[in-house]
Amino acid sequence: MPKRRRLLWYLYPSYLLIILLSLVSTAWFASDWLYDVYVEKMISDLSARASLVGTCLARDPSPDQRPEIDAIVKKLGASTATRFTIVLPSGEVFADSEVDPSILPSHAERPEIIAALKGETARSVRRSYTVKTDMLYVAVLVKRNEEVVAVARAAIPVSDLTEILRPVLLNIALAGLLIAAFAGLASLLVSRPLIRTIREMKEGAQRFAAGDLFYRMDGGSYEETGALAEAMNRMAERFHVRLAAVTSQRDELEAVLRGMVEAVLVVDEHETIVRLNRSAETLFRVDAKAVRGRRLLEAIRNNDLRRFIRKVLDSETPIEESLTLPGEPELLLQAKGSFMKDGSGRPTGAVVVLNDMTRLRALEKIRKDFVANVSHELKTPVTSIKGFLETLNEGAIEDPENARRFLDIVIKQADRLGMIIEDLLSLSRIEQEAEKGSISLEPGSLAQVFEAVSKTCRDRAVEKEISLEWNCDADLIAMINPTLLEQALVNLIDNAVKYSEPGKSVTMSAELVDGEIVILVRDQGFGIPREHLNRVFERFYRLDKGRSREVGGTGLGLAIVKHIVNAHNGKILVESVVGRGSTFSIRLPAI
Ligand code: ADP
Repeated sequence: MPKRRRLLWYLYPSYLLIILLSLVSTAWFASDWLYDVYVEKMISDLSARASLVGTCLARDPSPDQRPEIDAIVKKLGASTATRFTIVLPSGEVFADSEVDPSILPSHAERPEIIAALKGETARSVRRSYTVKTDMLYVAVLVKRNEEVVAVARAAIPVSDLTEILRPVLLNIALAGLLIAAFAGLASLLVSRPLIRTIREMKEGAQRFAAGDLFYRMDGGSYEETGALAEAMNRMAERFHVRLAAVTSQRDELEAVLRGMVEAVLVVDEHETIVRLNRSAETLFRVDAKAVRGRRLLEAIRNNDLRRFIRKVLDSETPIEESLTLPGEPELLLQAKGSFMKDGSGRPTGAVVVLNDMTRLRALEKIRKDFVANVSHELKTPVTSIKGFLETLNEGAIEDPENARRFLDIVIKQADRLGMIIEDLLSLSRIEQEAEKGSISLEPGSLAQVFEAVSKTCRDRAVEKEISLEWNCDADLIAMINPTLLEQALVNLIDNAVKYSEPGKSVTMSAELVDGEIVILVRDQGFGIPREHLNRVFERFYRLDKGRSREVGGTGLGLAIVKHIVNAHNGKILVESVVGRGSTFSIRLPAI
């Protein structure tokens, strides 16, 4: 941008220059005119003086009168500071106030003399041959009885004229200077309010530019600046409204993007990252601010993604593909990409929406595994039942002793089948109800639940010579579904009894610890090796299938417990030492 001068320094000197120019030219013309007027006046004065001197010639200028007339002329010349010369029509100088006329050459060729003799205005400004200075000459005819007898000439040095005019011109110049100073001051005073208004408007415009759109400009008292300020204020108001609309649209878009579970990534046509939402930040483990404006490959080193985006940028139609994102764990992404263009159809980039399918795939796998597990679990007793029934059918039924044994096995397997189905149904019911949110929780006494659990499990414990004890404050209350919580605790006690040697003890307790209700089920059984601790809550997970089956386990008991605890908004943990026993702890929120 070229360097700009302040308006004052642009306006003010030009004002001053104009004032000075007009003053100088006025003074110039005035002094010129004054000089002319003065010269005219001087000429008429000199012409009068010459005429007066001419009257000295009472008679014809004759040589004998010459000394007398010359003396008069010299006297008159001295008293009026004028050079007088009387020249005869022949050009001979008859008398002269400055020098001796006899030594003067003929004046017949002097322009004023020639003009006077011709009857014209006889004036001349020229250098005197005699006195060697610039002189103003005026010559008049001296007539007697209508007859020209001589030419009387009066002259003054030109320097006298300028000498007389000098103070006048000096005064004019002084007055001019004073006027110029006054006009300069006045123009400064006049231009200052305008300049101040303009400066204020400039500051206002700078505030608009800095984003202060609530500022209002004052256009001062001038019509033009007032209109300009009004227009600027209107513009700021409109701009504010537009900006507010754009900001709210942007905020809406941000909110939508932020709220999306899917990762959204926007790149321009050069594969530079333009935008990415929070889910994308989490997915790619990057900071949106840090990667915005960077090339895709620099920010997210994933060739699959890059190749996909390139494909989207080169394609006119949306593209969908599965991508893998290496890492721990490796993620499986479902990517959908669309190409973006501006109003004129020019490509501007691509928007890619990525869905993390890893969990979905894992769930799918769990479902498949579950179906396979269920089939396997059911198949074993069914095969066994079928086998024994066929054996019986093939003749074993005739052997009463074996037949009874076989039938006992068939009944046992059928019971097992029933138990598995029972547990599966129970699990799916709890799952469904929890999903629907239809499991009702109400404040209930834990002591009452313990009482019921101990009643249910007592026989089995006694049968295995295991002591069962419980301990809980009678007034300890929690938000529970008593039936389900009882089922969960029965499962835990059942396991404790199943996986303990006879003679051991099992305890059940509940207390309030740090704002949580902690229910503990402790046994002195075989314990669970550390590597299995995380998995015992999975469906059909058993440490030792044979033993589990032997003691009547289905592998679903702990999965049911976990679902019930979840439905109570609680957590279940297990600690165990092999050979020493296990402790299952359920933590429920206190009321
Ligand atoms: P199961 O019907 O086989 O008992 P669960 O889901 O109840 O199935 O338990 C899963 C596995 O966890 C059991 O097979 C068993 O190996 C182990 N387990 C559960 N509770 C205990 C316990 N109190 N002590 C030792 N092992 C246990």
